[in-house]
Amino acid sequence: MDLQHWLGRATHAVQDWAGTFGPYRPHPSLRVDDDRFADTFELFAGRLKDNYPFFHPHYAGQMLKPPHPAAVVGYLTAMLINPNNHALDGGPATAAMEREAVGQLAAMFGYDTHLGHLTTSGTIANLEALFVARELHPGRGIAYSEDAHYTHGRMCHVLGVKGHPVSTDNRGRMDLDALEDLLRTGEVGTVVLTTGTTGLGAVDPVHLALPIAERHGVRVHVDAAYGGFFTLLAGADGPEGLSAEPWRAVARCDSIVVDPHKHGLQPYGCGAVLFRDPEVGRFYLHDSPYTYFTSAELHLGEISLECSRAGASAAALWLTFQLLPPTPDGLGHVLAAGRRAALRWAQLIDGSEHLELYQQPELDIVGYFPAVGPATLTGIDTASARILADGMTGPDPVFLSTLKAGREAFTARHPGVTADADGARILRSVLMKPESEHHVEYLHDRVEQLARAR
Ligand SMILES: *Cc1c(COP(=O)(O)O)cnc(C)c1O
Repeated sequence: MDLQHWLGRATHAVQDWAGTFGPYRPHPSLRVDDDRFADTFELFAGRLKDNYPFFHPHYAGQMLKPPHPAAVVGYLTAMLINPNNHALDGGPATAAMEREAVGQLAAMFGYDTHLGHLTTSGTIANLEALFVARELHPGRGIAYSEDAHYTHGRMCHVLGVKGHPVSTDNRGRMDLDALEDLLRTGEVGTVVLTTGTTGLGAVDPVHLALPIAERHGVRVHVDAAYGGFFTLLAGADGPEGLSAEPWRAVARCDSIVVDPHKHGLQPYGCGAVLFRDPEVGRFYLHDSPYTYFTSAELHLGEISLECSRAGASAAALWLTFQLLPPTPDGLGHVLAAGRRAALRWAQLIDGSEHLELYQQPELDIVGYFPAVGPATLTGIDTASARILADGMTGPDPVFLSTLKAGREAFTARHPGVTADADGARILRSVLMKPESEHHVEYLHDRVEQLARAR
């Protein structure tokens, strides 16, 4: 795709449409002449250079990458019209696109029925799921693993619900015995399972947790904000295939959150929440004196906590899904490449004298740390921080990230390490660009070199 060409086409398409409504004069108060704009744009472009190269395969740090060109064209084209997906009055075309794209997400998870919509983020999508959970189980708390996203605790606070962190096993998955002990108290109404933790990509055993929750009459919400699209690799052939059970069980859970702005090739501003039972729409009931006037049909604002939302986000996702649908043969190929990259790097680290694998990657996140002697948490922490900094400043920069591993979590995985501190930073690379697959050997060599240079 030639982005420049299609951005030109985008402005023409919108101008052609706009032209059908007759001419008018732009107001002088909005006038900016090209010379002034040129200078300001220069300044702006300069300011933007203060960024990390998220697009480049040598950026192997946080969960960040630019959107697909199709998403960019979809977003910018719709943005020229600037529809608001709160109500059908605000954007009939993009509201229809949102329904279709959300339907594709629901089908990807195997939901037979659904009610859902896009949100501004995974955080807001989770808030909505927890809000509905609270309405269904008033007075009861919400459980999530210690490695769940930090916003679950925060949103419990916002909702006035007690949050219950549940301990994890030595691979970062929820400890089901601890969960069952907690559910026996009767204090919990909902459990949040994470399919792909943000730190290390650990997948909670949904298929085993679900029957426990059912036994105790507890609702199950799946936070698949980061990991959701990996369901496309469930049961797939080849090394990148994932064990199908947890992913198949997601279809039987009550609600799901997935972030198209993480693995769905979208720009920020695109999360999604899905409920299996459309009846939960009743909890959102409200009257709006301003909005719903064009039809008796459901307006997306009637089933969402947010009011204004970018119709452009729905446009971008819809257009992307027309070309790279959320199916094993579409987006699945993109996810598979990142996963192969993670597996390959894990293998290289395993064979290295200078690096150690923190744990085997479950999805596309690799956690590792420099081998130091004597092996202490303090030594590992200092060396990780140094490698992170040196990596970015050298002549052939590589961009990594660090993750704080707690003392118990660390020693459960590496009992030989002396726990002389309450934890240590380790190195963490999210290999979410398919191009990573072709650069893993280089990344590994560079990081090994950095680990050796002491
Ligand atoms: C990223 C993430 C969130 C938060 O989503 P945002 O879109 O950043 O608000 C929640 N849960 C998990 C598992 C995540 O990875």
